[in-house]
Amino acid sequence: MIVNVHAGHNPAGMIACGAVGLIDESTENRRVKDEVMRQLKALGHTVYDCTVNNGSSQGDVLKKIVEKCNAHKADLDISIHFNAGANDKNGNGRTTGTEVFVHSASSMAKEYADKVCREISALGFRNRGVKYSTTLYVLKNTKAPSMLIECCFVDDKDDVKLYDYKKMASAVVRGIVGKNPEPVKTEATSEVKPQDKIPGGSASESKTLYRVQVGAYADRSNAEAMKDRLGKAGIDAVIVQVSV
Ligand SMILES: [Zn+2]
Repeated sequence: MIVNVHAGHNPAGMIACGAVGLIDESTENRRVKDEVMRQLKALGHTVYDCTVNNGSSQGDVLKKIVEKCNAHKADLDISIHFNAGANDKNGNGRTTGTEVFVHSASSMAKEYADKVCREISALGFRNRGVKYSTTLYVLKNTKAPSMLIECCFVDDKDDVKLYDYKKMASAVVRGIVGKNPEPVKTEATSEVKPQDKIPGGSASESKTLYRVQVGAYADRSNAEAMKDRLGKAGIDAVIVQVSV
């Protein structure tokens, strides 16, 4: 797929930034956006970041976002937001939850929106469902089918407690493409192998080693490229093959 992704609003602290509550919309939507992009790329999709960080007003942010979106021929536009208005800063034991907007029931993005709602609600957020808006600027003006995800509420303690940007992004990715990339297991988490034990030590004695790791790659050529880069920087490195 070719997917446009953007975080709504200017960055935190600027004019036309997002909602501020127990967490900050403009900070969190950028974290979710980056992780959604990383995962979609890892799955082989083409992804464009259409986030705008220099709008002079809310209208200018939206206009620039749409210009960026429409500069690519995409299959889907994804706008990432967080909601506000729950006004539950102490927590009442219930999340206010998630909702996704599309332009109309006939939008090609509708089925993705349904799935994203289901995946996010499977994390424990109340499913407020898919909503229609013919006035939201991004939905109205992007050429590709588009959806605007209101991940959860920034001013609900229950939402904030449950929220984790990686889990949120993973749910969005599952909603769009049905799966997440395999997590890359790192050397640091693998068990100490027998040859790492102290020579002459008893079988029950093991020694802890601290390996320094800079990457873990599925393709050997990428590992070779990193080794070359380190070599050029004057750092000797070895490639260790690990079965995961
Ligand atoms: Zn927003």
